[in-house]
Amino acid sequence: MAPPSPYLTVITTGGTIATSTDAAGVRRPTRHGADLIAGLGAGLEVRVLDLMGKDSSELTPADWNRIAAAVRDAVEGGADGVVVTHGTDTCEETALWLELGYAGDAPVVITGAQRSADAPDADGPGNLRDAIMVAANPAARGLGVLVCFAGRLLAPLGLYKASTRDLTGFSGDLIGTVADGRVELTAGKTRPQLGAVAPDPRVDVVALYAGADAVALDACAAAGARAVVLEALGSGNAPAAVIDGVRRHCADGLVVAVSSRVPGGRIGPDYGPGRALVDAGAMVVPRLRPAQARVLLIAAVAADAPVGDVVDRWG
Ligand code: ASP
Repeated sequence: MAPPSPYLTVITTGGTIATSTDAAGVRRPTRHGADLIAGLGAGLEVRVLDLMGKDSSELTPADWNRIAAAVRDAVEGGADGVVVTHGTDTCEETALWLELGYAGDAPVVITGAQRSADAPDADGPGNLRDAIMVAANPAARGLGVLVCFAGRLLAPLGLYKASTRDLTGFSGDLIGTVADGRVELTAGKTRPQLGAVAPDPRVDVVALYAGADAVALDACAAAGARAVVLEALGSGNAPAAVIDGVRRHCADGLVVAVSSRVPGGRIGPDYGPGRALVDAGAMVVPRLRPAQARVLLIAAVAADAPVGDVVDRWG
């Protein structure tokens, strides 16, 4: 008797992979999962859940949890693998949120596209086909959440959108490739875990620039933020007025984490202003970009985990 074919669930959330272009030339998610998987997944049992149809810039932390719940339901319902189709704008946030809360063995593979579904050279179908192949591959079991884009498999932790046009889309840790339906895993990956928690605490990101003051930081604290990520300068520096604000707010119990507006390299208190930020009570997030540093802090605060330890381990 032939072995049973893998059973997969494809969860759609919107994004360019599902867009068509309207008369004004604007791309909006209109396509459903049945359209997206047409002609893909031959030999597999693929079920589709149309969860939402949003541009991913419109997703909220509550939506991350809706997606996480749908993934959990699919796995508890017996899926051997799950694919999530998603916009690229905030893929790095959702991917990390799912990773932090998902402890299952079935692979969860997120994919998307740079070109609209109605483009003659759309990249979505190829990306989705690859993601399905990965989700169905027994070698991907136990790896947690993976991002599959342009033939590359990337880890969620450290991922960021690096281009709005180039088909590779993202920068991140490469753990494998997919080509012509063949999945090759070339590196292991970390599975950062903080448990399935509600994304309740408010955590903001404050962008810094030459001449920045503490007005935005004060506003975040006044709005009830439990933590703030500074999108600091260079290797983690800030103007003096911001450092004064950090000192005031850290003394009141606000968590302030230092990331950078510079995509490459590591963050550390190597210069006077960076050292002064740390002396004022801020903690350095050495490698995550601000958006992912925020996700990690939301999860850490929500899980009641020691934020410093979490950042030391995964930041
Ligand atoms: N704005 C789109 C989104 O994030 C971009 C994309 O999917 O590439 O939904």
